[in-house]
Amino acid sequence: MTRILIAEDEPRISAFVARGLESAGYATTVVESGQEALELALAGDVDLLLLDVGLPGMDGFEVLAQLRGQGSPIPIIMLTARTGTRDTVAGLDAGANDYIPKPFKFDELLARVRSRLREGSSPADSTIIVHGDVSLSVLTRRATVDGRGVDLSAREFALAEQFLRHPGQVLSREQLLSRVWGLDFDPGSNVVDVYVRYLRGKFGSARIETVRGAGYRWL
Ligand code: CA
Repeated sequence: MTRILIAEDEPRISAFVARGLESAGYATTVVESGQEALELALAGDVDLLLLDVGLPGMDGFEVLAQLRGQGSPIPIIMLTARTGTRDTVAGLDAGANDYIPKPFKFDELLARVRSRLREGSSPADSTIIVHGDVSLSVLTRRATVDGRGVDLSAREFALAEQFLRHPGQVLSREQLLSRVWGLDFDPGSNVVDVYVRYLRGKFGSARIETVRGAGYRWL
C-alpha cells in the first residue's frame, strides 16, 4: 500500500489531510517535527512526503536539504503558509517536487499527490509520452516529431510535457505557470504565451490551439 508521510505540527490540518488521503486509499503516518520526518523518510517505507515548512526545531527547508543531501529520491510536496516567490524558489531549488500554499483545497492536494506518485513510481508509463506523431522521452529529454528530432530548451520541454500529458484538455495560463515555472508569477506575465509561440515554431503552429479566455489546448 502506498504510504504518505505527513509532517505537520497543526493537528487540525494533519487530521484533515490524513483523513482525506485515507479515504482516497492511501496509508498515512503523521509526525509533528522535522526530526521525526527526516528519520522516517530516510528509513524508507514511505512513498511520498508532505512537508510543512513551519515545523518546530528543524524546519521543512532543513528537512528537505538533509534528505536531498543524503541522496533520498522520495517525492516531496512542501506545504506552507508563506506564499512569497522567494520561498517557492528556495523550496524548488532545494529539490522539492511541488509546492502547495495554504490554505489549499483537499482536491488540489490529492491531484498533486497522485501526479507526483505517478512520476515517481511507474517509469514505463511516465518516461516516454507519445501523442500522435510526437514523442517525448522524459529521461533523455529528447523530443521527436514523426521520428525526426526537435531541439527544445529545458523550459520548452517542460511545457511540451504538460501539454502531451493532457492532450485535448484546455490548460490555463495559471496552471501552466504553476506546473512549468513553479512560481507565483505575476498573473499578467506573458511568459506562457511566449513559450507557446516557441513550441508552435518547433512542432507546427496547428498543434496548439488558443482557447480564448481559457488557455491553450494541444490537439
Ligand atoms: Ca506549521
